[in-house]
Amino acid sequence: MGNILFMVVPCYNEQEVITETTKRLSEKLNALISQGKIDKNSKVLYVNDGSKDKTWEMICDIHNNDKMFRGLCLSRNRGHQNAVLAGLMTAKEEADMVISMDADLQDDINAIDEMVDKFNEGYDVVYGVRNKRDTDTAFKRVTAQVYYKFLLKLGVDIVYNHADFRLMSKRVLDNLENYKEVNLFLRGIIPMIGFPSTNVYYERADRFAGESKYPLKKMLHFAFDGITSLSIKPIRFITVLGLLIFFLSIVILAYSIISHFLGNTALGWSSIMVSVWALGGLQIFSIGIIGEYIGKIYLESKERPRFIIKDYLND
Ligand code: UDP
Ligand code: MG
Repeated sequence: MGNILFMVVPCYNEQEVITETTKRLSEKLNALISQGKIDKNSKVLYVNDGSKDKTWEMICDIHNNDKMFRGLCLSRNRGHQNAVLAGLMTAKEEADMVISMDADLQDDINAIDEMVDKFNEGYDVVYGVRNKRDTDTAFKRVTAQVYYKFLLKLGVDIVYNHADFRLMSKRVLDNLENYKEVNLFLRGIIPMIGFPSTNVYYERADRFAGESKYPLKKMLHFAFDGITSLSIKPIRFITVLGLLIFFLSIVILAYSIISHFLGNTALGWSSIMVSVWALGGLQIFSIGIIGEYIGKIYLESKERPRFIIKDYLND
């Protein structure tokens, strides 16, 4: 097996950071090449996810200056997961291993050495795991923790504190190609593929420049997608809940019959109101969750392409 490395870097409005990222990646890859750890045909593949700023023009310039850098341009913004996927599927045609990494230098470039070492030791997947979350706000830290624990409870096999900084071998990517789902949650799918895997620990830095492209709304959406595309336990939970409430209603029925014969029939208005509202709320909530899954089925059944490539700079 060879050791051609491709770095896949999704970029959405990253004009403030891409020059610095390029500089650091170029140093790192050249060092690895001279140490003989990776092949000299190793590349960096920037995936432009429909940026509205100068990102694509800058990628074209970078490519013209140094052919180690390539650019893939999507037809429009498709979101981080799809941008990464587009890059992975393009890179695997030539690479033996691919590392996906954010453009903003939050992922520690120095962890790449260790990832490549692990690949050479025979691991197919190397997860970049952050050992601290100091640079995140307290809010993001707590919600992320609760969320990961929740996913684990739902039976989703996910690596704690791992985002999308990871190395994957070509055979993992060949198998990833068979996962056709439109609602893609890479973190949950890669562990499903199997093959030997290990972790590499790093400290997550602050964003080098620019702003997070993941506002709260997008984050919540992503979090919800993660749950509903990987687990059907919420639906089961509703079934169990419905069953419990049914049993409870039998108890209440028995109670009202007994009360009737005991002569306490002046039943309260409040108890009726409470049950009407409680049950109504529960029903709407349950229908909502089921609707969420039906929505997913609807989207999946169309089998639309997950990304469309407009341009590929690969000369
Ligand atoms: N990104 C993307 N498409 C999007 C949003 C983000 O390709 O629609 C890229 C972005 O350029 C960056 C990575 O995904 O390289 C992670 O985004 P960001 O750093 O904004 O997320 P955060 O680190 O704040 O979670
Ligand atoms: Mg970031």
